[in-house]
Amino acid sequence: MHTRAYAAQSSSSPLAPHTIERREPGDRDVLIEVLYCGVCHSDLHAARGEWDGIRYPCVPGHEIVGRVSAVGKAVSRVAPGAIAAVGCMVESCRVCEACKRGLEQYCDGPHGFTQTYNGWVQGGGENTYGGYSRTIVVDEHFVLTVKHGAQQLAAVAPLLCAGITTWSPLRHWQAGPGKTVGIVGIGGLGHMGVKLARALEAHVVAFTTSPAKGKEALRLGADEVIVSTDAADMSRHTGRFDFILDTVSVSHDLDAYVKLLKRDGTLTLVGAPATPHPSPSIFNLLLRRRSIAGSAIGGIAETQEMLDFCASRNIVSDIEMIAMADIEKAYARLLRADVRYRFVIDMQTLAS
Ligand code: NAP
Ligand code: ZN
Ligand code: ZN
Repeated sequence: MHTRAYAAQSSSSPLAPHTIERREPGDRDVLIEVLYCGVCHSDLHAARGEWDGIRYPCVPGHEIVGRVSAVGKAVSRVAPGAIAAVGCMVESCRVCEACKRGLEQYCDGPHGFTQTYNGWVQGGGENTYGGYSRTIVVDEHFVLTVKHGAQQLAAVAPLLCAGITTWSPLRHWQAGPGKTVGIVGIGGLGHMGVKLARALEAHVVAFTTSPAKGKEALRLGADEVIVSTDAADMSRHTGRFDFILDTVSVSHDLDAYVKLLKRDGTLTLVGAPATPHPSPSIFNLLLRRRSIAGSAIGGIAETQEMLDFCASRNIVSDIEMIAMADIEKAYARLLRADVRYRFVIDMQTLAS
């Protein structure tokens, strides 16, 4: 079926209206009318071809909240009219050990997991198209349910990537009472990291390069704010942190953060810059048995757990709503780290 969308036709062309083909919903599929789609920095990296393997046309968007319009006959968890959500994955093998454990994002099957956009349809190889579109068709397994109130749906959309990408490592590295946790970069991911780490009752320290975000970070839930460009201030916190989550979208010096870890502390990278970080100093790592790790999004069950946790605590993203046609202006502001704190596209602004 034809669907109106916004696409980049090449790494150098601005996003513009485009028509894509969605498959007819099969027995296990859910057809969703997209109401809101968050704007992740990954959308920009992909549209501009900053990562390898981007295929065009590229229709970004993996923070999707919408209304179910139709379901296949084998679908049991959602019904037409329900509010549903889709995040960063739309397929995986479902039978490997990782998938069986709910770690679909680390699928070991022959095709790995299929990303919501710029993914390879399992077995078929066609490109997948994301949420900058009026509809999406997704296997029921990858459809999340939303318990937030009707007024909150736009602000729920960013939980589908920014929320789960920070929740998953915070849980894995056991952020909680008695732990000192740093969140680096107060953007879309980082502001959710601050909110979630606070809700998990860790002592939360926000690191920002934008002094103007300091008071805001306290409002979001940080106990302390450190302006990371102040080297003297940074050095006062050596050896303090159990865990630091780095969400920064550009290459930068990791040593400044590794030094702040306690013995056995971990710096986990979720930011995915176009160019590598400078190689970190080995001595900072070995002298206190510190680790640098990475983490990718989160599994489906874990995403539902995070959504339900957020609904029960009334947690949503801080958003700025935009029209689809303003996406290039939004990308320009993302590059200036000037978003409070996630753009969400009102998809009704894209003519069907
Ligand atoms: P974002 O909203 O643009 O936030 C990035 C933040 O990084 C900025 O707000 C800024 O925070 C900081 N920053 C920007 N330029 C900087 C610089 N030159 N030096 C130091 N800090 C700088 O982006 P996002 O949507 O949160 O995504 C962040 C990164 O995570 C992207 O690379 C994205 O692709 C990646 N990502 C990874 C996963 C995963 O599964 N691992 C999932 C989603 C996104 P301050 O102003 O506070 O310094
Ligand atoms: Zn994302
Ligand atoms: Zn698998």
